Amino acid sequence: MNDYDIQEALKRIEDELIASMMRNMQRHRAEETKEGIEWGMWQAEQLRALEEYRKRNAKKYNGQFEEINSSIPAIISESRKRGYLDQEAHILETIGQASGGSGDIDGAFFKINDRKMNALIDATVSDMGNAETAMLRRANDQYRKTIFNAQVYANSGVGTYEKAVDMATKDFLAAGIQCIQYKNGSMHRIEEYAGMAIRTASKRAYLTGEGEKRKEWGCHLVIMNKRGNPCPKCLPFVGKILIDDVWSGGSSEDGSYPLMSSAMVAGLYHPNCKDSHTTYFPGISTPPDDKFSKEEIKKVEDDYKDDQKQQYAKRQKEKFRRLANYSLDRENKEKYEIKLGEWKQEFQKKAEGFNIKDSLEVFKEKIKNNIDNSRHKANMSFFVDTVEFVEDKELKVPFAYLPNEDIIKYNSKAPNIELYDMDYVFSHEITHRMDFLQYNSWKDERFLQEIEKCRQKVYDKRDEVQEWFQENGKYEYRFAISDIISALSEGEIIVPVGHKKSYWKSNPKVQAMEIFANLSSIDVLELDEKEKILDGIFKAYKELVE
Ligand SMILES: [Zn+2]
Ligand SMILES: [Zn+2]
Repeated sequence: MNDYDIQEALKRIEDELIASMMRNMQRHRAEETKEGIEWGMWQAEQLRALEEYRKRNAKKYNGQFEEINSSIPAIISESRKRGYLDQEAHILETIGQASGGSGDIDGAFFKINDRKMNALIDATVSDMGNAETAMLRRANDQYRKTIFNAQVYANSGVGTYEKAVDMATKDFLAAGIQCIQYKNGSMHRIEEYAGMAIRTASKRAYLTGEGEKRKEWGCHLVIMNKRGNPCPKCLPFVGKILIDDVWSGGSSEDGSYPLMSSAMVAGLYHPNCKDSHTTYFPGISTPPDDKFSKEEIKKVEDDYKDDQKQQYAKRQKEKFRRLANYSLDRENKEKYEIKLGEWKQEFQKKAEGFNIKDSLEVFKEKIKNNIDNSRHKANMSFFVDTVEFVEDKELKVPFAYLPNEDIIKYNSKAPNIELYDMDYVFSHEITHRMDFLQYNSWKDERFLQEIEKCRQKVYDKRDEVQEWFQENGKYEYRFAISDIISALSEGEIIVPVGHKKSYWKSNPKVQAMEIFANLSSIDVLELDEKEKILDGIFKAYKELVE
């Protein structure tokens, strides 16, 4: 097993633990009588099931954990050996000698520093064992909590048994089995922890192996490699010469360079670090190059942010996969399936980088293949074919239509751009263009009247409308209707996505314009957001475009 196999195996076990608990919830429903749900009997039965779950898991997984843990020493030892051999090759290459080594190093090699290496291996294996135990314990705790919380949610009036259980397990399913706390207080799942712990230990072993080779040659200077993409934390050290007082026995007597130990205290070789160094020979090695141009620094930061966004998309994808797979209620499952689909796409996009041209092609195809008998869709198809998209890194928002220049600008580095559904964005911005060049919705008397009527209805049912956008609300994740309600209430009703209050009040025509664009998105993309309260404005919109 390598570190990825270990991560995969632990993730599979985490999934099995969740699945088996949710299966118990599904099989043994609480009975619903005229007086309500029989929670007492159900709880007693589930507590017995929990006891069995606990015993069975301890037995079932201990063997698997042992197998996983027993593969860790070899991974770490291999890294040390690789560091040793890589450094030997580097030294011989730099000082111009051919390697005459036989590669048979094990005998002598493994005697040096053995105590230190064994301690590293033991600590890693024992920490992993603790994490595994914590995962089982956490699963039991969550199970117990669910048994009691389901009733609490049911009493607050969520409806069916399935919905009550889903409410009680929602946070748990969203987060996964978070059982390890890092020093900074953040909680993590075992898969993340295992990856971090094994890679960090392997890195230390690799650096130890390198240092051992350096020590044999009496070289104590190293240079931090400048290549690829360093982590921002390590950027200040890249290209610098350091004295290796950590692995090869260097000391301040080796020159006026900073010590490796100090650099590490300042953050170098933090957990999950991907940076590295090589032996430095004054006068022979390539001289240090620790200057970064502004563009290079910008690139490092951008790459890092892209990487973070990709990680985020991956975590979201996992979150909705768990929610979709394990929620009991059908409606909940469907809602999470949709989110899962979106995040899958998003992750794909992030993995390939943000590419407006590709998503635009997808959107164009979608509109063209789906014109049926809608004049508006056919029109939109023209307007999208003839518009220009221009990247503008100074743009304060991710996307905007600029009527004066008749272009759509975007900023691929805008914060949260990965959260946007691109079909929604295109249909929305293209509609602004159509509106300016053709419809002028903000001047249409009838459309404006309907907006006022609808505004009144929204205020009359303000509390109910607000609930749509809260947790588990029916429009919790919807863009178009969010922005419409935000416009109608001038920002008074809190929605997940929408323009700011100040924008709604900035100019009387923007409310009509944005409502128009959002109705068009709902129409063209056939979004499931045609709420009854919008009937009037939807009709007025239709009359404008058809
Ligand atoms: Zn680093
Ligand atoms: Zn807009």
